[in-house]
Amino acid sequence: MTAVEVVEDLNLEVRGWRHDIHRHPELAYEEERTSQLVIDVLQKSGLKVLKGIGGTGVVGVLRKGNGERSIALRADMDALPLSEENDLPYKSVVRKKMHACGHDGHTAMLLGAAKLLARSVGFDGTVYFIFQPAEEHLDGAYRMIDDGLFDIAPADAYYGMHNWPGLPVGKFAICDGPMMASFDKFDVCIEGVGGHGALPHTGVDPIMVASQVVTSLQSIVSRAVDPLQSVVISVTHISGGEPSYNVIPNEVLLKGAVRSLSPENRVKVREKIEQIVKGICNSLGAICKITYKEVCPVLVNHSCDVEKVVSTASEIVGKKNVILNINPVMGSEDFAAILAEKPGAYVFIGNGDGVGSCMVHNPQYDFNDDVIPHGVKFWCQLVRSQLMG
Ligand SMILES: [Zn+2]
Ligand SMILES: [Zn+2]
Repeated sequence: MTAVEVVEDLNLEVRGWRHDIHRHPELAYEEERTSQLVIDVLQKSGLKVLKGIGGTGVVGVLRKGNGERSIALRADMDALPLSEENDLPYKSVVRKKMHACGHDGHTAMLLGAAKLLARSVGFDGTVYFIFQPAEEHLDGAYRMIDDGLFDIAPADAYYGMHNWPGLPVGKFAICDGPMMASFDKFDVCIEGVGGHGALPHTGVDPIMVASQVVTSLQSIVSRAVDPLQSVVISVTHISGGEPSYNVIPNEVLLKGAVRSLSPENRVKVREKIEQIVKGICNSLGAICKITYKEVCPVLVNHSCDVEKVVSTASEIVGKKNVILNINPVMGSEDFAAILAEKPGAYVFIGNGDGVGSCMVHNPQYDFNDDVIPHGVKFWCQLVRSQLMG
């Protein structure tokens, strides 16, 4: 029996796991129940299981034959702090927690592939199934790496997959090189000298200074970055003072994020932000404190592995349903941390352009179960093509 035939058998079971995980969503590093479900399925399928990696992370190891080659497949397990608005039989039973990014589907599909490969599909080598916590925090991958992921799962190449609303079911999309942006965050505290609103000349107004900082930060994107390259700087929070009409506060706090598709721009933007904030504050007599945290690098697909993904997806859904040059996305994904050190690639699988087209991180989103056979077949076929012959 081929992978394609056998996968139909598993479809209902994988849906069941997906609905079970969906009903019981767990936030980053709390994925105890989810990881236990993963462990149970992997163990029942006969895999060697390593748990507690990066907190709640799990790695299943499946060896066949004596082949030296190996491959790692990764799924994420965490949910988001949203209250679900869908009316579904498997709706989240936890208020303010829901699987609004489809990680329930990713986990279930990878479990399906593990079960299928363990029982029916011959290959020669080792497959590592990585179930990662805390993708939404953009650091679960780092925690697993810190806990020895690359020694526990020393694969020749690493692959990740994410559902993509708006892309029809039965299509895959990928691009060579940068596919998702880096993510860095900053806090700026601007300290002035507060006072009576009628006497601004006796102090230093941090609200006026902060306003100039917010406006000037956008000059980085328009004047310091090549117009053909993409950078986003968003100030996402501004606070200072009390809700009064006649008191100038002492300080203002800004929070924001920077996204970039090139490591060079990432460095340049950080330098420019510091230069502009310090320059404006200095010239207007305010004191600033900048806290800048680099969270997640640019996700860069490796050419050779993109080719493998494209040829595997083409075998599953036909060449015309595989989009090779999708535009990169300015969202971020911590699988980038793995691809920064190891070869591999990350691919989008269509979640639907009708049902399933609601964008992720939305209380009405739901992973589309019709995606399951495509995802399971893709993982199985990728393993087979990389570890056969
Ligand atoms: Zn997400
Ligand atoms: Zn996600």
